[in-house]
Amino acid sequence: MRILTKEIVNKENEEVELMGWVATRRDHGKLIFIDLRDRSGISQVVFLPKPEELRQLADKLRSEWVVKIIGKVSRRPKGMENPEIETGNFEIQAEKLEILNPAEALPINIETDGYEIGEDVRMKYRYLDLRRQRLQKNFRTRAKTVKFIRDFLIEKDFVEIETPILSKSTPEGARDYLVASRLQPGKFYALPQSPQQYKQLLMVAGFERYFQIAKCFRDEDTRGDRQPEFTQLDLEMSFIEREDVLNLMEEMTVSLVKTVFPKKTISQIPFPVLTHKEAIENYGSDKPDLRKDKNNPDELAFAWIIDFPVFEKDEKTGKITYSHNPFTAPKPEFNDDLMNGRNLEKLVSQQYDLALNGFETAGGGIRINKPELLEKVFETIGYSKEHIRKDFGHILEAFKLGAPPHGGIAFGLDRLLAILQNEPNIREVIAFSKTGDGRDLMMDAPSEVDEKQLKELKLKTYGTKRI
Ligand code: ASP
Repeated sequence: MRILTKEIVNKENEEVELMGWVATRRDHGKLIFIDLRDRSGISQVVFLPKPEELRQLADKLRSEWVVKIIGKVSRRPKGMENPEIETGNFEIQAEKLEILNPAEALPINIETDGYEIGEDVRMKYRYLDLRRQRLQKNFRTRAKTVKFIRDFLIEKDFVEIETPILSKSTPEGARDYLVASRLQPGKFYALPQSPQQYKQLLMVAGFERYFQIAKCFRDEDTRGDRQPEFTQLDLEMSFIEREDVLNLMEEMTVSLVKTVFPKKTISQIPFPVLTHKEAIENYGSDKPDLRKDKNNPDELAFAWIIDFPVFEKDEKTGKITYSHNPFTAPKPEFNDDLMNGRNLEKLVSQQYDLALNGFETAGGGIRINKPELLEKVFETIGYSKEHIRKDFGHILEAFKLGAPPHGGIAFGLDRLLAILQNEPNIREVIAFSKTGDGRDLMMDAPSEVDEKQLKELKLKTYGTKRI
């Protein structure tokens, strides 16, 4: 029966069966050594000059061949131990070798941390890139993080609910990805920029506490460290006030760091709270970097930013638009001004963000649950009655059918993980990430489709020509 390489430390003098990849092969004339890698780590296997048949087979081995080895575990001779690896006091004397699959020379080096390799080739051979130790660790830690969050929230009576990917446009300030409908020709689904409306409708549905590890899709121009699809920890709660959300999220974040990232230190607990105005005036940013020592990679400076404006001027169009999303409620004392269209740029909302080391890691708000207020927000940003009815009729109607007061938040999970793992880019924590211009170089997506598929969708393309 196969055991893992890390288990050999408890098997001295026993015969074991191992399977994995040849990480390296060293030919010392008399002896051949291979480092065998599996998901648990590495162990050293020795091939003696005899039996000859076994030795000849071992001669053929090359890096990254997949093999099965049977052999006896023994202590390494004095002075030959390797303290760098967990199994470094032991080795396996091979008795049988089976080549499960040979491999050609790899197109990329997987022994280094990989930062020195060009993005294009790393992404094209991502399945090899992922073999490197750094990325293996990143994804194991990602899984632990998600498990921690799930356990924490379920313990607090949250229900994990999946919401649709084929959906209708919900505004978060980006362009939608569209999917053509075959059964309703000429009509399109939009992929969700976030589950915002669904989670609010789940509050109307009476769940009171929802969360989801949610895929979100935003068609944005190449902008720094962004990905067209990314993951949010999305949640929503009913019958709560802002402080309830902030306190719970702070408790979750602090215990996540203590449990999964114990090397990190948090600069200040409770997290400092700054108004949007204070953040801009004192730090020139609504996601200030409050670290005491910016060279210390293990310092985490969280800060809540509150009291964002309801509206802001769109830099490009000069038109007034929502500052977070249209569903965020103004502070109650500004409801009158909103309804009467007064002092619009001075209205303060119940939006909050969580800044971390100069990045926005989470954002949310207490929501509007009164249809007339939501309608007024849409009118204020210039939507016609018809537009409002067509795109948001469903949620306005829901708000007339018993909508509890509610609010929530979403964490950019990729960004949070990148910071917690000292990674410079969210690509390093997304298994199959895309290039800056939105291409999946491994699968070669996006790509052209069959004429037949387009016909079924009643679509025509003009190729790459501009029309
Ligand atoms: N849906 C929001 C976003 O994606 C988060 C929230 O307000 O809960 O930014």
